[in-house]
Parts: sequence; C-alpha cells; structure tokens
Amino acid sequence: MTRTLVLGALIAMAALSFTVGAYQTPQPAPRTVTALKVKDNLYMLNGGGGTTGVFIGANGVVVIDTKNPGWGQSILDAIKELTPKPVTMIINTHSHLDHVAGNIEFPATVDVVAQEHTAANMKRITPVTGLPLRPANEYAIFADKNGRNLAKRTFKDRMTLGSGSDRIDLYYFGRAHTDGDTFVVFPALRVAHVGDLFAFKQPPILDANAGGSGIEYSRTVMKAYSGIKDVDTIINGHTPTTTTWADLKEYADYMTTFIGYAESQMKAGKSADEAATGYTVPEQFKGYTAPPARVKPDMQVIYNELTK
Ligand SMILES: [Zn+2]
Repeated sequence: MTRTLVLGALIAMAALSFTVGAYQTPQPAPRTVTALKVKDNLYMLNGGGGTTGVFIGANGVVVIDTKNPGWGQSILDAIKELTPKPVTMIINTHSHLDHVAGNIEFPATVDVVAQEHTAANMKRITPVTGLPLRPANEYAIFADKNGRNLAKRTFKDRMTLGSGSDRIDLYYFGRAHTDGDTFVVFPALRVAHVGDLFAFKQPPILDANAGGSGIEYSRTVMKAYSGIKDVDTIINGHTPTTTTWADLKEYADYMTTFIGYAESQMKAGKSADEAATGYTVPEQFKGYTAPPARVKPDMQVIYNELTK
C-alpha cells in the first residue's frame, strides 16, 4: 500500500466519522405522551403541547385537541394502548398550533368540529400575541396539506353531538383567550375540557391576534360557570392534573382582580410596563403564579382595549 493511498483512506475514515457524528448530534427527543385516566372512558394525554382529551364512545374515539406539529402520531399510538376503537372525531377547543397541529396526522376521514371563529382562525393561523414566533412553515401547516383536517363542522353558541352516554355538548360564551374558545362537556361523566380559557392558575395568554380579549375575560368565564350545569371535574389546557368546577369560579374572580388592577393602574397614570412590573398575585389566590413574561404582554393587550 502506498503512502498516498493510506493517507487517502485515513482522510476518508475521518470524513466518514465526521459525517456519522454530524448525523448523530441532533437526535430528536422521543415524542412520548403520558395518559392519565379521568373516568373509565375518558383520558387526558399530557406532553407535546396542550392537554389532549380522549373520549372512548360506543363506536369510536373522540379526540379533543391534537398538540404541537409532529405529535399527532404519538396521540394515535397512545390511543392504541387504551382501546382498539378507531378515532372518528376531533374537536379543537381553539386555533393555537399546540392544540390543532397534530390534526394533519389523523386519517382524512375523521370528522373535525370547531366553533366557527376557531374554524376560520385555523385557516389563517397567526403568531400568538406575547409569545415568541414559531418557524414560518408551522403557520402554513394546514395549507401545506391542502387543508387536510381543518374543521368540517362548525357551530356558533352551542352544539350537541351523540346521545346517551356518548353525548358531548359544545359551548361558546364569548371572547377570552381567543374569539373561539370552546367548552367541551361530557354530561354523563360530569367532566369538561376547557382548553386554554383556563389553561393553568396563571394570567392567561390574551391572544389579541386571534380575537382574544382581556376586558371581556372574566365575563366570559362567569357565563360558562353559570351556563353549564352538572360538571364537577375540569381538564385544563396546560395543567397535568384535573381541577374542579369551583376552580373555574375562582379563575373568573382572579381575572376580575387582574383586569381591575390594570384599570386602576391606568387611571393612576402608570404605563402598561409599569403596571406589569408592579403586579403581584392577590393573597387570596393560593397556588397562583404570574410570570413577568406573561403579565407584560397581557397588560399591553388590556391597555390597548381600554384606550380603544
Ligand atoms: Zn392557546
């Protein structure tokens, strides 16, 4: 073997190991979701974005929200562990990508249901007010698939799907997190999936770009609290365990104080940023937190509404 050839082989090996190394580096984290039983035929799937509800009916499975881009298959895999029944329907609580993007990975035969504003918002997904921009291609996730699994059936204020123990009631009460936040109620189980209208015990994201409203928020939550009967348990948009119907009332009260604080700061001549910096959670709301990165854009949205 000549020296040149050996050298060439060494260079080739170095190049090969470099290539292998380069491919190994960005190993994607495994997309695993965790199933939590809420009732015998209702589960919540945590991980990968908004909380997914899995309702196992007599003839098929209804999925509520489908997580971030690329997470649809993980949902389908998790459902296979729970039941052999096929997914027949998706209900999207609102249009945010971490609740709708997985839709495109479900069979095109699936019935997709959403409130009419949410259905329209899904056709032109915009950046969420106060959140960092996502990669540009994610906003076109449905357009790139020729509109696959956009909402096929819509409602305005109220819709009932199925009957008896399979019955699902959908409600819309007005603007809050977006202009299409849906309450998905399983009357036989006394459970409601409330999406991001009550995502966690924190100030909500007020997505003005998708029609959300700060000043109407607590009114909308109160309408739901008094308009929906016989629910005990809530599946929240981003809380890993369930909460109670009483927590929804507390959330309405919390939002009343939050908006009241913004109004009083504005009257006192404070800027939105000054109001945000001075904000602390009132003592009566135990377990609530208020991340500054959330409070700041929220104050701006409320100030913008108050000065309109
Ligand atoms: Zn959301």
